[in-house]
Amino acid sequence: MESSSLSKINQLLNIADNNPEQFWWERRNLISWFKEPDLPKEGKAPLAKWYVNGTTNISFNAIDRHLNQGDKIAFYWINEFKESRRVTFSELFDMVNEASSFLRQLGVRKGERVSLLMPSVPEAVAFSLAVHRLGGVLVIHYIGLSDETLAFRLKDCESKIAIIYPKTYKNGREIDIQDYFEKVIQSHETPIEKVVIVPRKGNAEVRDKTEIVYERGEVRGNKVSPEEIEANEPSTIYYTSGTTGKPKGLYHSTAGYIISLNWAFSCLMGPKNDEIWWTISELGWPVWPMANLYVIPVMGLTGVLFEGYIGYEKDIFIKNVENFKVNLVWSSTTTLYTLKTLGDESVTGDATKLRIILNTGEPLNVGAWKWLKERLPRTTIADAYWMTEHLFPVAGTPFGLGEIPYKLGSAGIHFPGSRFMVLDDDGKEVKPGERGYIVIASDSPAFAKMWNDPDGERLKKTYWSRFPGYFYTGDYGYYDEDGYLYVLGRADDVILKDDLRIGTMEIENVLVSYPEIAEASAVGVNGKIFAFIVPRKRYEGMENTIKEHLRNSGYIINSIYVVNKLPKTKSGKIMRRLLRSIIAGEELGDFSTLDDIKIIDEIKETIKKSS
Ligand code: ATP
Ligand code: MG
Repeated sequence: MESSSLSKINQLLNIADNNPEQFWWERRNLISWFKEPDLPKEGKAPLAKWYVNGTTNISFNAIDRHLNQGDKIAFYWINEFKESRRVTFSELFDMVNEASSFLRQLGVRKGERVSLLMPSVPEAVAFSLAVHRLGGVLVIHYIGLSDETLAFRLKDCESKIAIIYPKTYKNGREIDIQDYFEKVIQSHETPIEKVVIVPRKGNAEVRDKTEIVYERGEVRGNKVSPEEIEANEPSTIYYTSGTTGKPKGLYHSTAGYIISLNWAFSCLMGPKNDEIWWTISELGWPVWPMANLYVIPVMGLTGVLFEGYIGYEKDIFIKNVENFKVNLVWSSTTTLYTLKTLGDESVTGDATKLRIILNTGEPLNVGAWKWLKERLPRTTIADAYWMTEHLFPVAGTPFGLGEIPYKLGSAGIHFPGSRFMVLDDDGKEVKPGERGYIVIASDSPAFAKMWNDPDGERLKKTYWSRFPGYFYTGDYGYYDEDGYLYVLGRADDVILKDDLRIGTMEIENVLVSYPEIAEASAVGVNGKIFAFIVPRKRYEGMENTIKEHLRNSGYIINSIYVVNKLPKTKSGKIMRRLLRSIIAGEELGDFSTLDDIKIIDEIKETIKKSS
C-alpha cells in the first residue's frame, strides 16, 4: 500500500525505532521549559526517567503562554438545559490564579495529592490547572463510584484535600455531589481534612466541619507564580477502568506525559489554531483531562465542555456540533453506540465543519463505524488504541500527518513513537494474520508508573513479567501484511470454541452490523457462545433471526439474550467477565467500577426467563 503520507509516517517510524532517545528529545519543544533538560533519558524501561533535570509547569504551558491571545475563547460550556458560558484565555488565567492562591492558603504544595469531583465545567479546568500550578498531584474521581471504592482511592493516594462542586445534572437528574462526598468521608476512615466547595451559581453552604466554601471575591486579582517542577515528578494519578479486574492506580510524569500527548494529538488530528474541539467524556476517565487540561489549552485551542449525558435528548450531539461549529470530536465507542441507539436524528444536521471524530476506549465496532460514516460521509472517523498505563497510541490512524488508507475494523498502524508486536503463548513474534497477544516493544516517556510502588516491583510484576522485556497490554489481536493492527478484544475474554480462539470483537462486529442492533457483547462459557444484544427496536422472534444471521457468518451461538443495557464500567467499557460469571453461576469478582449495579439483576432475570 503506497501513499505519500504513509511514506512520511514510515520515515518518522524509522527515526523513532532506531533512535528513540533522539526522537523524543526532538519533541521536547512541544512544551515550554523553565530549565531545559540535561539528558533525554536515564535508566531503562519500565523505570526510565525522561527529560532529566528539565523543569516546567503544566499550568504555565496551558495558560500563561497564551496570554498574547487573551481574548480568544478557551472554553465554551453548555449543559443539558442549554445554559451556556464562555471563558477566554485571560479569564481562565485569572480563574486559575485565584484558585491557586486559595489552594496555597489551604496548604497545597508540591507533591500534595488533591482530589477533584466535579462535572465538566470551566471551574473543573481552572481548579485542576491550579493544582498543577502549585505542583500538586491531581486525582480526578468519578462522581458516583461506590462509597467504598472512593474511600479506598482517597486512602490509596493519601489525599488530604478535595475540591468538589455541590451538584450536577445528568440525564435530567440532579446529583448532589456534596451530599455523596459527605457520606463517604463521614462513614469511612479517609485522610481528607479539607473539602473545598466551589459554588455553583454563587450558592454553597458548609455542612461538615471539613468543608470550606471557595469565595472568588476574596482572592480576585491575585497572581501566583507557577512552581518549577522537575520533568519526572508525578502530575496526576489515574485508576484503570476495572474492566478486567480490580482497578490499578498509576501516575504520569509532568513533562514526558504532556509532550507525548501533544505529539499524539498532532498526529491523530493535526489541530489548527482556530479549530473547536469537543471531548465527550466524564471527568473521571483520563480522556477528559487528557484533552481539556493537557492538550487543548496547551495547544492554545478552543474546547467545548458539555455537562450532562449525550443521550438526554436525541439531538444534543448534532446541535452542539452545529452551534459551536465543532471541528474535532473525541469520543468513546460507547458514545457511538448511544448515537446509533438514539437514531438518525442524533447526527442529522449541519456537520460541515466536523473534520474528525476520534474513537477511543474499545475496538471501533465495524457496524457502528459504517452507520456513522453513511450519515457523516465527509467526516473522518479515526481511531486510537491506548491504555491508562501508556497514554500514547499503541496503534492509531495518524490523519493529522496526512491522508492514510483506512481499514475497517483496524485500530490503525504503528504510531511514530511506539512500536507494538504480537506474540504467541511462548512469547515468539507471530506472522501477519496470526493471532496473539499485543505487547509494546518500545520505551517512551508515555509510560506511567504504579502509585505506592517505590521500587517498581509491582509494575514489573503486573505488566512486564508475562513477556519479559515487553509491556503486556492484556489485549488479543493480529496485524496484516500492511502492518495494520486489529484488536480482537481482551485476552481474558477470548472465546474458546472447539479448537478455535475467537476474539469477542469478531462476533460483536457482525452483530452491530444489523441495523436493528445498537450494541452487543459476546462471551464464551464452557465451549459455548452467548450473545447479549441491545436492540434499537424489539420484535417478536428477534433472537432466532439474529442467531440464523450469525450462523450464516460462521458463528454458532448457544443463546441470544435481548437486554436493555450491557454491564459497563464508568468509562463505558463492556465488562464481559461479569456476563461470563453470571452465566456460569460463579462469584462476580471486583465490580467496583460498574456504572449501573441494577444491571446485574436485570441480566440474571433475562437469562432465567429464557431458559
Ligand atoms: P483494567 O486494566 O482495569 O481491566 P481497562 O483496561 O479497561 O481496565 P483502560 O486503561 O481505561 O482500562 O482501557 C484500556 C483498554 O481499552 C485497552 O487495553 C484496550 O483493551 C481498550 N481500548 C482502548 N482503546 C481502544 C481502541 N481504540 N481499540 C481497541 N481497544 C481499545
Ligand atoms: Mg487494562
